[in-house]
Amino acid sequence: MKLVVQVRPLPAPEQAAALEATLRAVNAAATWVSALAHHRRVFRNYDLRRHVYGQIKDDYGLAAQAAQHVVKKVADAYATLHANVGNGNVGRPGSARRERVLAKPILFRPGAAHPFDDRCLSWQMDARTVSIWTIAGRMKSVAFTASADQLKTLAAYRKGESDLLYRDGMWFLIATCDIGDRPVATPNGFLGVDLGIANIATTSGGGRHSGKGLNAVRHRHRELRRRLQAKQTKSAKRLLKKRRRKEARFAADTNHTIAKRIVTEATRTGQGIALEDLQGIRDRVRLRKPQRVTLHSWSFHQLGQLVAYKAARAGVALVHVDPAYTSQACSSCGHIDKKNRPDQATFSCTSCGFAEHADVNAARDIASRGVTSWAVSHAA
Ligand SMILES: [Zn+2]
Repeated sequence: MKLVVQVRPLPAPEQAAALEATLRAVNAAATWVSALAHHRRVFRNYDLRRHVYGQIKDDYGLAAQAAQHVVKKVADAYATLHANVGNGNVGRPGSARRERVLAKPILFRPGAAHPFDDRCLSWQMDARTVSIWTIAGRMKSVAFTASADQLKTLAAYRKGESDLLYRDGMWFLIATCDIGDRPVATPNGFLGVDLGIANIATTSGGGRHSGKGLNAVRHRHRELRRRLQAKQTKSAKRLLKKRRRKEARFAADTNHTIAKRIVTEATRTGQGIALEDLQGIRDRVRLRKPQRVTLHSWSFHQLGQLVAYKAARAGVALVHVDPAYTSQACSSCGHIDKKNRPDQATFSCTSCGFAEHADVNAARDIASRGVTSWAVSHAA
């Protein structure tokens, strides 16, 4: 299993200048190669390299290795674009959007991510520095910060290329690690996870990951965004973009924390994890308008992926189950009735009298569906 570790380089001023000049050069070269590829309809790495290799080395001051990476980056970008077009992700044939995408060559921002292989970038784990090729020569001892966990993963599993990028005034270095496959342990029951608004995630064990503080923050962001959107100035647009990234990072951090807690709870209890199939979450949850915005902007899909990913790392079994009627079905006797749910937070079975927080009851439903689903798929 592959995972990425993102660390923050902290270059000294003269190092930062060299890194900036380097990213600027490789991305300018990539944009030039991209224009040529688009114009001549040459998109394959090998063919493209024959056309441009010599010239980008000379014109942009790139070493051989860096020039190859530029060409490969462009070829990869077009391969992704063409795959997206083929899959219909940019509109139907003949649609305005698709025509627009295909009419122009791909552009690369001056700070866009650029891959460095082991010959261009080496890691000194003990010193927490990297040594990196730049157009101003090899830059040694560029410091970086990372958590203890990240350092351990990097030291043990880092493999292949790392991406350097500059965004919102910050440097990022993204390393790929291959941690291999861990066998999945036979689960001793399942931990059900219910996803929602008031509580982003609730487990059948009673663990509740509240969205209260988060939703407040998101509302604040939304207000700010609205004010910025009203202004049509360039600086407002730039601020808006920055805001959006900041929000995305905030959501990702929160999702990471929640996913980690869920997987930890499952590991501690020896259970597998039953997650609701996310397909239906927007249809299933009917809401008043302010909440609807919160739901639509929350990345449940990302949370689901993070849980899956952390579960796989920990060797925890994971199943996806159909969440239909989990808000109305009694997790004790199975009785389904709208009246079982007198209000948003309360579940109280009209048949057997079982009472529980509504989200916990739903999580228990999901847990028992997980048990069934696992039994069926492992019957052979
Ligand atoms: Zn009941």
